[in-house]
Amino acid sequence: MNVRLFRPSVGEEELANIRAAFERSWIGLGPNVGEFETRWSEFIGCRSSIGLNSATAALHIALALFNFPEGKKVLVPALTFVSSATAALYNRLEPVFVDCNPETLGLDLDDLERKYCDDCVAIVPVHLAGHPVEMDRLMDFARAKGLKVVEDCAHTAGGAFKGRKLGTWGDIGCFSFEEKKCMTTGDGGMLCSDDEELVHPARAMRWIGIDKDTWKRNAAYTDAKLNARHWYYEVALLGYKYNMNDLAAGIGLAQLQKLPTFNEQRLSAIKRYLAGMSELRHIKPLLPYDLSGESTYHVFGARCEQRDELMIFLKERGIATGLHYMPLTLHPLFSPWVTDVPQAMHVYDRIMTLPLFSAISNDEVDYVVSALREFDANM
Ligand SMILES: *Cc1c(COP(=O)(O)O)cnc(C)c1O
Repeated sequence: MNVRLFRPSVGEEELANIRAAFERSWIGLGPNVGEFETRWSEFIGCRSSIGLNSATAALHIALALFNFPEGKKVLVPALTFVSSATAALYNRLEPVFVDCNPETLGLDLDDLERKYCDDCVAIVPVHLAGHPVEMDRLMDFARAKGLKVVEDCAHTAGGAFKGRKLGTWGDIGCFSFEEKKCMTTGDGGMLCSDDEELVHPARAMRWIGIDKDTWKRNAAYTDAKLNARHWYYEVALLGYKYNMNDLAAGIGLAQLQKLPTFNEQRLSAIKRYLAGMSELRHIKPLLPYDLSGESTYHVFGARCEQRDELMIFLKERGIATGLHYMPLTLHPLFSPWVTDVPQAMHVYDRIMTLPLFSAISNDEVDYVVSALREFDANM
């Protein structure tokens, strides 16, 4: 048996929306994007959502919206995907790497307070694997210090903490619809906020700085009552080509309908893994998974002192594994900003990601569990 690490679930509903966009002959930034933004705002419970081509773009624009002076500092986790930290660099800001909590692998809030200095202007908490950062405590600290908060929600879609949706605790929430994430649009991202005034410029920033989208210009052009200035636009700010398009949004509209089911399916696979692993002596679950349904998880994994040997053992049995993540301080790009992150350095040598996706079968989970058991028994 071969078991993939991640696998998107896409089908006829997504194809039907793509077909409809083809039939309209409108496949760029158009009505599907607007519709998807509205549905996403309803789902997350926020006032404003802006569709982008990735979460990397969302994180870049989110920090740009605050116009921080060059050289200011952003507190980011050491244990995360590179985009959480490159967002600071794109804006000529400096990342300050914060250690992880050894149990949840999310931001260690004690270390966050230690690493804080007067030059810090923002925090980018990451809900790693979908497990929530303690946002109440984080927001209290951020407000006391005047720090802006951009939540990197790339590993969660619909998860909550203390009854409030992730992505709505901070000033801005950024979601990813990359093919491996909780739901997908192929590639895509969403920038969400309750502060419509703050995020309004993001609509121009995703479209090379132009403050109306092509669909609206086209609609004006075909309205005979409007004057001949249908072509007029102004560029007042530096923008990018970061928009979502109608093909991606069409996929997203279908995926969003299925997302609650996807989240439940991943949770029941996690429950099955945990039950199967409960007796193991040397291999432990990656996280203190919350099985109440309030958290939506993207990553399941394990911890083992003989991680490399276990990875090879699983590979020999056709089971894909991964590592989320090597501490960012180990990448040459971030060498000017290395800080002391002892927990992240300790943990990353012992963690591994195991197969998890909405359509994973009981047989596949059982097959992985039996391989874990075999390795554990011989350790
Ligand atoms: C995947 C990921 C991103 C970037 O998402 P894209 O949509 O691929 O740009 C950002 N942060 C984290 C934690 C991620 O896992």
